[in-house]
Amino acid sequence: MSQQAAFRAVIAGGGVAALEAALTLRYLAGERARITLLTSAEEFVYRAQAVREPFAGPVARRHPLARLVDDLNLEHHRAGLASVEIDARTVTTDTGDLLEFDALLLAVGARQQPRFRHALNLDDRNLDEQLHGLIQDVEAGISRRLAFVIPSEPSWPLPIYELALQTARRAYEMGVDVHVTIITPEPAPLAVFGAAASTAVVKLLADSRVTTLTRSSAAVTDDGQLLVHPADRVLRVDRIVALPELYGPLLKGVPGADDRGFLPVDGHCAVRGVERVFAAGDLTSFPIKHGGLAAQQAQAAAEAIAVLAGAQIDAQPLRPTIQGLLIGGPRPLYLRARLTDGVATDSEASEEPLWSDARKLAAPRLAPYLDAIDQG
Ligand SMILES: Cc1cc2nc3c(=O)[nH]c(=O)nc-3n(C[C@H](O)[C@H](O)[C@H](O)COP(=O)(O)OP(=O)(O)OC[C@H]3O[C@@H](n4cnc5c(N)ncnc54)[C@H](O)[C@@H]3O)c2cc1C
Repeated sequence: MSQQAAFRAVIAGGGVAALEAALTLRYLAGERARITLLTSAEEFVYRAQAVREPFAGPVARRHPLARLVDDLNLEHHRAGLASVEIDARTVTTDTGDLLEFDALLLAVGARQQPRFRHALNLDDRNLDEQLHGLIQDVEAGISRRLAFVIPSEPSWPLPIYELALQTARRAYEMGVDVHVTIITPEPAPLAVFGAAASTAVVKLLADSRVTTLTRSSAAVTDDGQLLVHPADRVLRVDRIVALPELYGPLLKGVPGADDRGFLPVDGHCAVRGVERVFAAGDLTSFPIKHGGLAAQQAQAAAEAIAVLAGAQIDAQPLRPTIQGLLIGGPRPLYLRARLTDGVATDSEASEEPLWSDARKLAAPRLAPYLDAIDQG
């Protein structure tokens, strides 16, 4: 076996970032790299699709990791990452095993923390069960005033809008009069997609009779009322639905996390100040948490790791573009912008697809790979 054949890449995680990285690294490095997927997850859940479930839409697709592990000739170490020993280039798993690495990609996602005691704090593993009763109450005219809250940033940009829009639409179809309000710290609805996209979203919300309070935060009083800042105004509501707050995973042995626990990375998604350790996806300090961006970060990291493994390629730094498909209106709305230093430029919105193969999850290798499996 040549020296290059022994290059050990460990990818911790089983979500978009981990799987996009595994596909990219195998493609670029071929069999030069021995790739271990370190996660106790057994399946990939297409969580972006979960927002349709409470409205009798299709169930979010699930894919066993075993298939991808097999197709890509990976090793699946069924455990969670517990700590990283940077100098020794090892990781310790939560079952006490020690894995050596030549390059490590951290892709374990964000930690979710419910913000409010007296609210329905969303858990995307369970959206149908969580929201089923609420939708029934809306249909029956029992719950007429609903608040959908983004408690803080960074957050996932799309789902609260999609749930609010679908709720308003369902009420309209049932002939029930409801007041749906979104409370968000964003400067404008879906501002991460830039000005033109946000303008289109404002129109869609107005047409759907959804009110949006931007640059706002909320507190829930003990009797279940909503106190909206900065005006300190009480919003009387029947139900409050909130996204969880997101934090970094606080991985033992990995230095440099910011005050929310997210990991700063450079243009190639290397963890700042740590050799041979990379990070991609929701756990990085990139200001936007989005599956498509997680995939682009994974690609940048995988390219840099492939070079370390001996691949003759020119690793490209991340040049992020955010692509989103907003559902809930009469037609899907495609949103896109380039991101430079976190600022959106060349913003676009259209009811026609703005990029080829437009899917809910814009992951260049993973999305078509999963579609091909679904199509048999
Ligand atoms: C309801 C909802 C709708 C969304 N809609 C969209 C959308 O339309 N488009 C879009 O692009 N994005 C969307 N997003 C955001 C998108 O899902 C996330 O940005 C994306 O999942 C982040 O990918 P990730 O790989 O960084 O993390 P995750 O998807 O969170 O994956 C993390 C993985 O790591 C594993 N893991 C956790 N801890 C450990 C550990 N210690 N060791 C090993 N493995 C571990 C987990 O089991 C999981 O497999 C949505 C999110 C939600 C919740």
